[in-house]
Amino acid sequence: MAETAKSARHHVVVGSGVAGFQAAETLRERDPDSRITILTLSRLLFYKRYDLPKVFRGSRDWREFLVHPAEFYRDRRIGMRRASHVANVDSRRKVITLDHKEEIRFDTLLVASGGRAYLPEELAEFRPLMHNFGSYEDAITMAKALPERGHAIMLGGDMIGLDLARTLIDTQHRVTLVAGPHTFWPHEVGESERPALVATLEKMGIEVIEGADTGGIASIEQGARGFSARRVLFKDGTEIAGDVVMPFFGLMPSVEFMLGSGVDIERGLLVSPGLRTTDESIYAAGDVCQIWSDAERRYRFYYGWKNVRAMGDLAARNITGSSDPWVPAQDEKLHISGDGRIQSPFWEYE
Ligand SMILES: Cc1cc2nc3c(=O)[nH]c(=O)nc-3n(C[C@H](O)[C@H](O)[C@H](O)COP(=O)(O)OP(=O)(O)OC[C@H]3O[C@@H](n4cnc5c(N)ncnc54)[C@H](O)[C@@H]3O)c2cc1C
Repeated sequence: MAETAKSARHHVVVGSGVAGFQAAETLRERDPDSRITILTLSRLLFYKRYDLPKVFRGSRDWREFLVHPAEFYRDRRIGMRRASHVANVDSRRKVITLDHKEEIRFDTLLVASGGRAYLPEELAEFRPLMHNFGSYEDAITMAKALPERGHAIMLGGDMIGLDLARTLIDTQHRVTLVAGPHTFWPHEVGESERPALVATLEKMGIEVIEGADTGGIASIEQGARGFSARRVLFKDGTEIAGDVVMPFFGLMPSVEFMLGSGVDIERGLLVSPGLRTTDESIYAAGDVCQIWSDAERRYRFYYGWKNVRAMGDLAARNITGSSDPWVPAQDEKLHISGDGRIQSPFWEYE
């Protein structure tokens, strides 16, 4: 009897990114008779966000980004509900409410809702004049706004921005980076390490303006007709003009819909080394969570797609009976490789 009840469980996964997709695959392998539903804001089936810079290498059709066709989900009986906005979660009743008020019951919930671009308060009023690069739709919109050999101005930096900058330079675009404390986010870089890393960016072909990423910017304006589409004006009276302005100040975990759920949240969803939140039937994986590190006695973030995929797998294993801990990487330092590339121990390229 107990076995029947266990195998009839409804596992709900919020998010169809690297973490949510991997979790659903592992859940299906380990709990063949269960019901599995992925709820996602995305209108596309699973694609890898870190593939998005390929829009500048000629891939613009959404079909080129999908990792698996629809049959993959059908064959594995993974229900994929796209364009579904989770509005809140009631952990006591084990009910998820979607934006349009539909309620979905779960036995276990895995939150893999990732993060979205963080924009510092002082730049918020200029949001309509900036382009993001977090989804397929963002990437296409930005690519249409950037002409061939056009000029992208990146504010902040961060590893996502630097990854995109690499592709833009390779594809004959011009990149100016207005650098500051977020330039190598999520890595923390000491004062003594920074000059060599910035010099490496310059060798890659990025034009770097140091120290003005938030406090130094006076305004962002639309360019006059016939001129570049955007101007960034600095408080010291200087300005630069470009075709697009993009904020890269790291990610903010997408946790709004969990606020009234009863689980503990700091910046992300707080999880144990086994990726369980403070509710025993709710787990979290990927960019949304803040994970406890026994070694460091603090909660910390883990970004980079390989970590995120491993977290999705681990959370699914633990939901289905294991109790393994996440083992944190000890070395987080950025390195400059022999061929002059910036390398991160956890920010990996496929
Ligand atoms: C342009 C770009 C380049 C990158 N390059 C690299 C790289 O080179 N190397 C590397 O290691 N990492 C890279 N990354 C980072 C890597 O892609 C992320 O760490 C990873 O995608 C995070 O996966 P995730 O599953 O946690 O979240 P995400 O991929 O962010 O997925 C979150 C999912 O949750 C859904 N969601 C959010 N809120 C809700 C809601 N309320 N209701 C329903 N669904 C919701 C979203 O629709 C989405 O499907 C890059 C990221 C980008 C954007």
